Amino acid sequence: MHHNKGFATRCIHAGQRPDPTTGAIMTPVYQTSTYVQQSPGVIIEDYDYARSANPTRKALEENIASLEGGRHGLMFASGLAALAACVHLLQTGDHVVLCDDVYGGTFRTLDKVFKQFGITYTRVDMTDLDATEAAFTAKTKLCWIETPTNPLLKIIDIEAVARIAKAKGSIVGVDNTFASPVLQNPLKLGADIVLHSCTKYIGGHSDVIGGVLVANDDDIAQRLKFTQNAVGAVSAPWDCFLLLRSTKTLHVRVQRHCENATKIADFLAEQPQIEQVIYPGRADHPQHAIAKKQMIGGYGGMITATLKGGLPAARSFLERVKLFSLAESLGGVESLIEHPAIMTHASIDKPLREALGITDGLVRFSVGIEDVGDLIADIAEALD
Ligand SMILES: *Cc1c(COP(=O)(O)O)cnc(C)c1O
Repeated sequence: MHHNKGFATRCIHAGQRPDPTTGAIMTPVYQTSTYVQQSPGVIIEDYDYARSANPTRKALEENIASLEGGRHGLMFASGLAALAACVHLLQTGDHVVLCDDVYGGTFRTLDKVFKQFGITYTRVDMTDLDATEAAFTAKTKLCWIETPTNPLLKIIDIEAVARIAKAKGSIVGVDNTFASPVLQNPLKLGADIVLHSCTKYIGGHSDVIGGVLVANDDDIAQRLKFTQNAVGAVSAPWDCFLLLRSTKTLHVRVQRHCENATKIADFLAEQPQIEQVIYPGRADHPQHAIAKKQMIGGYGGMITATLKGGLPAARSFLERVKLFSLAESLGGVESLIEHPAIMTHASIDKPLREALGITDGLVRFSVGIEDVGDLIADIAEALD
């Protein structure tokens, strides 16, 4: 239902219908652990136990799947639980290729959890297609792309990397958290699995932790669903309800995030205290052409900038902003700002961090949907 409708219509309606018992227009929070059977094994749809299936969760899964143009959606308790389900597709001896400035928690899962079970990985700068191709081995079973990357907002050509990975016989996963389904739909570009941390733009209100996987291939979806149930890191009904509420405004929110970020990036670029501004929508972004090709809905709400004067300058700026709250995370309606080297990316050793370009003067903005004039005034005052 609704698959042939426009994006905004799907945000509001996909996966949802009036509650059959009351006609309630909003999907209820089915806060139940089990379901009464009419006779042993005779159940309604697939509802036998709520780890396996829950109507609130199912509505959300169908909703987000539709937004990504996928047939199957699976909700998890967090983005990292969703990532772990993807890695559970592999076996001891298998190898993963992942982009170099991948989300810190993704790297930690592979490096600290799955490596001890004999699953190895190679990190590579996926803006370099030759290096990417060379990173594959005969054992590579999963290629993990994140674009825009965090915090350097590098843009990886999903179509090109997916083509390379497919030729090597690897499954392609794309962490689409920074773009949101409004801006980029990786399944259409050759990906097998799309991941979102729903904690970010999909939730959008900084009040819930969640993760989702979307896939088209029945076999992959079936294996992921098995893991969802067998490992059991499912999303709770109340969290699914909150996220269903969030997706109804996703398209409007993300559009405003993009508008505000575009104006702030341009403002920052003109300030003498700023050494460099990284925003995929600016013509001076090294992969702007790829962003233009694959980010069909806009360039997102994330900006990274380097302050002249390194850590002291960055620290004083971060202490002085008022409307931008100093906090980790992103994608909410309120503007946040953070210092990757000290905060989100502190777990990466300094030499590697510097090699990646995460320097001490670097700050990351998650631009919210406040009045952009107020946000710019806040930045201007803090820079002065
Ligand atoms: C936050 C985030 C994750 C992890 O999601 P959680 O919901 O915090 O577990 C994964 N990838 C990206 C890009 C993220 O920003």
